Formats: sequence, structure tokens, C-alpha cells
Amino acid sequence: MSQVFQEYVDPIHEAIDDLFLPTLFGQVEPLPGELRQLFTLTPAQGGLGIPDLRIDAPQQYAASTSITTSHVESIVTQRPFKTKGDVSTEDRKIYHQSLKTASVKARMETIDSSLSNELMRLVNQSRDKGASSWLNAIPLEEQGLAMNKQEFRDSLRLRSDQTTVEVHNKAIIGNDGAYSLIRREMSKQPWYNYKQEYIAHAYQELHIPAKDGGEYAMDHNFLHVWPRDSFMLIALPNKDGSFTCTLIMPCKMFESLKSEKDVLTFFNEHFQDTIPLMGEKHLVQKFFSFPPSPMVSVKCSPYHVKDKVIIMGDAAHAMVPFYGQGMNCAFEDCLIFNDYMDKYNDNFDEVFGKFTLTRCPDAHAICDLSYYNYVEMRALLNSRVFFVKTFLIKLLNRMMPRTFIPLYHMVAFSRTPYHEVVLQWKWQEKIVTRLSWICVSVPFIVATALTLRKILNHS
Ligand SMILES: Cc1cc2nc3c(=O)[nH]c(=O)nc-3n(C[C@H](O)[C@H](O)[C@H](O)COP(=O)(O)OP(=O)(O)OC[C@H]3O[C@@H](n4cnc5c(N)ncnc54)[C@H](O)[C@@H]3O)c2cc1C
Repeated sequence: MSQVFQEYVDPIHEAIDDLFLPTLFGQVEPLPGELRQLFTLTPAQGGLGIPDLRIDAPQQYAASTSITTSHVESIVTQRPFKTKGDVSTEDRKIYHQSLKTASVKARMETIDSSLSNELMRLVNQSRDKGASSWLNAIPLEEQGLAMNKQEFRDSLRLRSDQTTVEVHNKAIIGNDGAYSLIRREMSKQPWYNYKQEYIAHAYQELHIPAKDGGEYAMDHNFLHVWPRDSFMLIALPNKDGSFTCTLIMPCKMFESLKSEKDVLTFFNEHFQDTIPLMGEKHLVQKFFSFPPSPMVSVKCSPYHVKDKVIIMGDAAHAMVPFYGQGMNCAFEDCLIFNDYMDKYNDNFDEVFGKFTLTRCPDAHAICDLSYYNYVEMRALLNSRVFFVKTFLIKLLNRMMPRTFIPLYHMVAFSRTPYHEVVLQWKWQEKIVTRLSWICVSVPFIVATALTLRKILNHS
């Protein structure tokens, strides 16, 4: 578990320590250790309420797991709530609160002993019972603690002898995902085009664990797909020998699976071979661990406002996940943005404009292709015509590798812009469709001709 925490917490920790706090106080170097530790305390304790996540996150996780285990079990198993062991949930809460209080107390003592006399005097002042809320508040409007900039600066100065600096942002780059707030603000601009579409399907993550020796339960060099027309299951290998499975289904079908029995009956009917791989109990547990998630596709234009704001990644072009290109496309945004920054000497006006100009058609194209691949994976994989076409394109690719390239290869293994991929694909499709007709009709014409000749010869 600590490894998992590190993965998530370290980048946030580094951003706070190496960027945010130094920037706030107008310096390049991280703050001295004792000051940083002081700022982990609440404002009423003389700090800034900026936690040290590497210490706090594992403690909070342990407390939350211990307090909620019985509730989670009752939700997962759909059985009445029963306290685990002899200790009630309330007692657990009290116990973990007392651990937290003791831990904070010990930390305060350590921090206090590391501070200079002058800083300790200021900190004690702000800890005084009579200290005004103005002195020991942080400016959180949501909690009714609105402060103007100067008040916040003064309170920092009085509490910890620190001065903040004004940082002027040159531009904002919004990478805040499919439900982007920055995009929402941009959409208030005139001439802003925006389209958001939910599909009628949702997804649920399931899991095939590694075998006892850590080996994969299925061949791990494949993307495993169980297509069932209107729904499907896919499995992708993880490095630890397990597979992450995604069940994609109409929301209405998810709604119909209410109990353990419903789920097992459904899997027995449609994905029987996966049950021994997942294990009945594990399957049911995973199935009910989270509600199914919706899938949204977002197209908008432009991606920038003057030289002030630009959006990238899902904020600009969230797509349904059936081409596995969402993140790739977001990384490609970064590459292209970087290229333009070099090409136009960091001139945001030119870079942002050019980015919108080239990226919008490409991102719209991959949003459409992702949707197309959804249809293809569910329905076409079971179709004979689709197989004939796939065979032909592979054959043509062997004969003319530069002229005929399978769609998936162009999308996944090349840097060909997505909108060019679509043009090339449509052209290939025309030829392959005509060839398929020829393949089907030539034997028919030959057979008819031979029969006619036989009849004529006999007469
Ligand atoms: C089921 C599924 C399978 C997928 N499979 C693939 C795949 O195989 N290959 C692939 O390339 N892509 C895949 N994707 C898509 C991929 O996950 C996304 O395209 C990618 O994560 C987008 O990255 P992003 O940084 O733009 O947005 P996100 O990963 O959504 O990151 C946005 C971040 O912004 C933060 N944020 C949001 N609002 C605010 C705010 N107001 N202030 C501060 N922070 C904020 C969020 O907390 C989040 O951390 C899949 C998606 C799904 C749903």
C-alpha cells in the first residue's frame, strides 16, 4: 500500500514543496524544513493548513479503512450492517481521533523545538486564545473566511514573519479533464462551439487476478475481447500478472443487475469462461464496488482565448475510450504544443492560434473514430463481411505496404494526423468494398457462365 501512496502523493508533494510554496514567498529554493513543517499545522496552531501528505495520507487511509470496513462489507455483500469484532464504529472513530490528536501534539512539540525564538514568539501570539480570527484564518470564501489579499499578507507576516509576492501569470493551460472548469468559462465567449454527448452505455471495471505463482491466467500478448453485439467485455494485461477487465453495456442492462444472483446468472449466460478466471466472489465484489461510470465525448472549438488561455487533453477533446487514444492524443497535444513553442519563439499569440487550427480537426476526427471503433468492436467483429474486408486490407498491405495501411495501424502506430488518417481510411474503404464485391461476384459469374455453356452444349 505504501508504494501506491508514494505514486499518488509524491507528485503532489513535490508540486507543493518545490513550486507552490517557493512561488508564494518569491523564492526559487524550497522553504527551510522547520518552516515547511510549521505550515503543516492549522492556522489556529500557527501554520497554514498545508499538510505533509506523505505523513497524513497513509494515517488517514488507515483510519478511514478501519472505520468503514463493516459498512463497505455490508454494501458489497448486500447484507445487513454488522460491526466487525467487539468495537463499535463510534468507538473506532474516537480511537482514531485520539491517535490523531496525539500525533499532532507530538508533531507540534517537535516543530516548536526547531523554531527560532522570534518565530516561536510570533507563533505563540497567533495561538493565543484571544487571537482574532483575522490573524489565524486562511482566506477560504467557502467557509465564510473571505479576506482581501492585503489582510492575508499581513496575517502571514504577523504569524510567521513571511512576505508573499505577486505572481503574474502569463497564460493558463487548462488540463483539467472532461468536465473542465476552464472550458466552461471559455464557453461563455461569443462564437464558442461546444458539443457534449453521453452514450447510452456505461462501463464497469472488473479484475482477473494473477495465478498463485504470479502468472497470467490468459495469454498476455493480446487484447482480449468478448463481443456480444450490444455489449462487450475486454481484458488488458497488467504488469503484475493480473488483467483489468472493462464491461461496457447499455445503462439499462446495468440497472437490471441488482443482486449477486443476477450478476452470476448474467455472466454464466454471456461470459461463462471468465467466471473461473475472476472467481465468483471476487467478480461479485468488484461488480458492486463502484457504480458503473458514464462515457462522454466532448468536441469544442477554439481551444484558446487570445494569448491568455488554452486547453488540452480531455478538457479539449474527451472521447469514448474505444480506440485507447484519449491519453495518447493528450500527450500528442503536448508534443505539438512544444514544437510550436520552439517554432514561434514562445509567442503565445501565434502558438495558441496555430494549436487550435491544427488540433481541432484532428481531435474531432479521433473523437469520431473512437465512436466508430465502439460499433466495430461490438458488432462488426461478429460479421463475415468485416472479416473479408479485414483480410483484403491485410493482403493489400502486404503487396503495397505504403499505400494500404490498416486503420488501427495508422491510428495507433503512426504520427499521421488523425484527420488525414480518416481521409486515407475512407479512400481505402472504397477500394476494399469494391474488391469485396468482385471477390463475391467473380465466382458467381464464372459458375453461371460454365452452367450456361453446359446447357448450350447439351442442346
Ligand atoms: C474506461 C477508460 C479507459 C481508457 N483507456 C485508455 C487507453 O487505453 N489509452 C488511452 O490513451 N486513453 C485511455 N483513456 C482515456 C484517458 O484516461 C484520458 O484521455 C486521459 O486521462 C486524459 O488526461 P487529462 O490529463 O487530459 O485528464 P484527466 O486524466 O481527467 O486529468 C485531469 C486532472 O485535472 C484535475 N482537475 C479537474 N478539475 C480541476 C480543478 N478545478 N482544479 C484542479 N484540478 C482539477 C482532476 O482531478 C484530474 O487529476 C481511457 C478512459 C476511460 C474512461
